[in-house]
Amino acid sequence: MLSDVHDHLYAVDDPDSVVAESKERGVKLIITNAENYDTALRCLELAEKHDIVRAAVGIHPEYALNVSESEIEQIERLLSNERVVAVGEIGLDYKFATTSEEKERQKVFFRKQIELAKEYGLPVEVHSRRAHRPVLELLAEYDVPVNLHWFSGPMRDVIRGVELGFYFSFGPAVLHYESYRAVVDVVPLDRILLETDMPVRFGGKEARPWWVKDVAKFIADVKKTSVDNVLQRTWQNARRLFRV
Ligand SMILES: [Zn+2]
Repeated sequence: MLSDVHDHLYAVDDPDSVVAESKERGVKLIITNAENYDTALRCLELAEKHDIVRAAVGIHPEYALNVSESEIEQIERLLSNERVVAVGEIGLDYKFATTSEEKERQKVFFRKQIELAKEYGLPVEVHSRRAHRPVLELLAEYDVPVNLHWFSGPMRDVIRGVELGFYFSFGPAVLHYESYRAVVDVVPLDRILLETDMPVRFGGKEARPWWVKDVAKFIADVKKTSVDNVLQRTWQNARRLFRV
C-alpha cells in the first residue's frame, strides 16, 4: 500500500511507464501536483488515464509571479472534476519573491486558492520555502485541511503545524538530512504522509514513487514501529485527507 501524495508525474520523460512500474511495485496512489494551468491540464489528463493517479491543481508560488490572476479562474473550472483531490501546489516561496510587492502577490494567489479549496471542499498541498511563519499564519486563518509538503522546520514551526492539525508529507530528503529525525519524531503517525516530489533528484537519480518505501523504513525506525504499520497508517491518512 505505497502512496506518493506529492509529485510531478507529468515532468518525467515517460509518465505512462512510470505508472506501470509503480503499479508493479505496489504503489496504489500517486497525486501529481500542478504548477500552473498548463501543467494542471496535464495532471488531469494523467489522472483520467490511470486509476492510481489523482490530480492536485493550482498555481505554484514561483508561477504566481509571472502569470495573470485570471489563471486562478481557469484553475477553478477544474476543481469539480472528480479526479481532482486537492488544490496544489500552492504556497509562498521567498527564494523567488524577494521584494514586498512580490511577496504580496504570492499571498494574493495563495489566499485565493485556499478560499477555492474551502469552497470546493478540497485539501491544500502547500509549498513553503523561506516563508514558514507567514505560511502557517495565513493557513491558520482558514478552516481547510492542509498537507505541508517537504516541510523541514525549524522545529518551532513544525510544532505549530502539528498544533494546527496539519499533515506533513515526507520524501527521500529524510534519508539525506539527519535533522529530519527530530522533525519526524514530533509529527504524530496519524498526520504523516509519504511523497517523492518526483522528478526531484536525490543522489543523482530522479525520484520514483516506489521510493516511498525507503522513506517509510526511516519513519518506522524513528517511531519504533514496523514498516508495514507505517505503510498502512500513511495509506489510511492519505485516504482520509484526500478522500480517495
Ligand atoms: Zn512539488
